[in-house]
Amino acid sequence: MTRDEYFEGLKALAREKRRYHAVRTDSFGLREIRQIYKTEGIRIDPWPLPTKIKGLYMCADGDYSVAVQRTLPDEPKLFVLAHELKHHYVDQEKIANGVVHCGEYNRNELIEIGAEVFAAEFIFPEHEFADLVKASGVSTWRAEDVVRLKRGTPAKISYMFVQKRLERLGVVERGAFSTVRFKKLEEQMFGVPFWKARARRRPIGY
Ligand SMILES: [Zn+2]
Repeated sequence: MTRDEYFEGLKALAREKRRYHAVRTDSFGLREIRQIYKTEGIRIDPWPLPTKIKGLYMCADGDYSVAVQRTLPDEPKLFVLAHELKHHYVDQEKIANGVVHCGEYNRNELIEIGAEVFAAEFIFPEHEFADLVKASGVSTWRAEDVVRLKRGTPAKISYMFVQKRLERLGVVERGAFSTVRFKKLEEQMFGVPFWKARARRRPIGY
């Protein structure tokens, strides 16, 4: 099996599991994925993890559990939980000692890249994303267009997710926006979110 066949197989599996769990892109978040974990019989353990570990999957004698880095914002946390699902569905026999640690340090291993591919397809299938890109009518992508696309998507995804997808679709060069601070740019374009504005106005000492 080639790498591409492996990845395509994982995307097909992600779509199949989405159908099975009736996942809808516009209403899929932490609450919904926790429900899937429940249905699949996987526990989410509140263990604290070292910062270099984003998530961890454990299986032993029919006992399945996942821990996720608590400090992550919601979108990356959702992504990690979808990533760990791939280990549950596909890698149980490959995992030595019944544990796989996931983080930056091993992100280039095939088993890990595969989990990223699975997670991306599970949260926001490529064909749905491609439709959105097409509908945007943008031909030369600037950072501002990326912000508009992200704000227009119903999926709970990060700017990193959007950038990787645009690169994959070949509409932007790899690393084209690596120096852009997207959240800051979004604030410049659309203003500071209400909850942030309130926090900033609060005088010191309160
Ligand atoms: Zn992993």
